[in-house]
Amino acid sequence: MSTSTSGGNAAGTGTRTGAPGAGEDHLKPGDEAMAGTPGTGEDLCPDCSGSGKKKDGAECPTCEGTGRITQGIGGG
Ligand SMILES: [Zn+2]
Repeated sequence: MSTSTSGGNAAGTGTRTGAPGAGEDHLKPGDEAMAGTPGTGEDLCPDCSGSGKKKDGAECPTCEGTGRITQGIGGG
């Protein structure tokens, strides 16, 4: 009577890398890195000077209307 362990050894179960469509943490066009990346920091968007809008009142695409972008700090 050999009770063979029927293979239920699923290797690599549920290692999710990045949920698609997560709206919060994503790179904006003006970002150099993800927010929270070491060596980076939030700064005013150079294109709209932090207003989040361009001169014509449209939403600034660089910062997506947030007025802030993430870029490297320190300067190497
Ligand atoms: Zn902007």
